[in-house]
Amino acid sequence: MNAEIIAVGSELLLGQINNTNARFISSQLTELGIHIYHHTVVGDNPRRLLQAIEIAESRADIIIFSGGLGPTKDDLTKETIAQHLGVNLVQDDQAMASIQHFFDVRNRVMTDNNKKQALVLDGATVLTNRHGMAPGMLYETDKHFYMLLPGPPSELEPMFQFEAKPLLASIVSDGEQIVSQVLHFYGIGESALEVEVSDLLDLTNPTVAPLASDGEVMLRITAQAESEIRARELIEPIQQEILQRVRKHFYGINDDSLSSKLVEMLIDNKLTIAAAESLTAGRFMATLADIPGVGEALQGGVVVYNEEMKIKQLDISRELLEEYTVVSSQCAEAMALSAREKFDADIGVGLTGAAGPDAHDGSPAGTVWIGIAIKDTVHTYKLQLSAQRNTNRLLAVKACQNFIIQ
Ligand code: ATP
Ligand code: MG
Repeated sequence: MNAEIIAVGSELLLGQINNTNARFISSQLTELGIHIYHHTVVGDNPRRLLQAIEIAESRADIIIFSGGLGPTKDDLTKETIAQHLGVNLVQDDQAMASIQHFFDVRNRVMTDNNKKQALVLDGATVLTNRHGMAPGMLYETDKHFYMLLPGPPSELEPMFQFEAKPLLASIVSDGEQIVSQVLHFYGIGESALEVEVSDLLDLTNPTVAPLASDGEVMLRITAQAESEIRARELIEPIQQEILQRVRKHFYGINDDSLSSKLVEMLIDNKLTIAAAESLTAGRFMATLADIPGVGEALQGGVVVYNEEMKIKQLDISRELLEEYTVVSSQCAEAMALSAREKFDADIGVGLTGAAGPDAHDGSPAGTVWIGIAIKDTVHTYKLQLSAQRNTNRLLAVKACQNFIIQ
């Protein structure tokens, strides 16, 4: 089975919004083992939408539409599909009732054009919209599946998770279960990891697929079997084999992140942490604060972006900064020690560097110094990054988290 996503909306073509729906749907389809060969974006124009549908029909089994299900004139996805397939649009009573309810609870009078949202393709399976009005649908012909989803991500994403995904899973699996397990690695590049596991990438059940993002690499192992237990039994030996080869760089599975692993480690060991951030301006702490329960471990910290503040807020000596500059091992070390002391923590972190695009204080763009003070010792680490400014800052945070975890 393969799928094509058609995102409908002129605002996508005009560069006003990102096509995050295609990205979301793609990642979900990949989990289901459905191949995606094409993404299409088309404006709110019935003639061009029809062309896009005909092209998709020539190369995909499942066509997934996002957007254009709303009440306004430019919302014409289902009208175009209905006309193309020669299917009537009929009112879905449940959708009509929930649209009415939507207005009632807000004490507003429903305008007539809203009734259009309750129309569905005659014979379609209706997907409930719990966060908006327009229902989604799945319509099947001899040759294709057509899935229609609303444009707003806050409506599309839950509808996909709870309504569409189970339907698609049953379409592609013939009653079989598909189970995925994601292994997270840090400190190894995608190509280096691929070399280590290259023979496993040719397996067919389970499959092993690498994916990389922002300095991290993941391997997704996906198995298909008559039951979930059997699928997990297929995954287990492959996972062990992978870990045997690259355990050194492995840090977590599925929803784990470097932040969540760091917070887990701190809480398990009853350790507290504080940070003094220059380069990352609070991002290290903000990333930890994304993890529930971090309050047990995160004491606090300071953003000391300019040199004077490093002196004033952290009591770092002017002589030290003059001798070594702010992008130095000495500065990172002094920041870490001061953060630990001022915030009464077990671990103090100092992050300083040249984010780019320009050199800073004589250090080339991408130079990062990380100081980590733990108990009576303080270590410093240097990174020489080569990404864009914001990615450099994110990579510095991740590298720092990884150094502490180890
Ligand atoms: P509505 O009932 O809100 O009109 P709709 O199903 O008709 O929903 P659109 O009118 O096409 O959908 O888009 C509504 C909003 O959803 C857009 O303004 C945009 O914010 C968001 N949106 C639409 N398509 C996408 C997409 N592919 N990726 C991310 N966001 C999108
Ligand atoms: Mg709309």
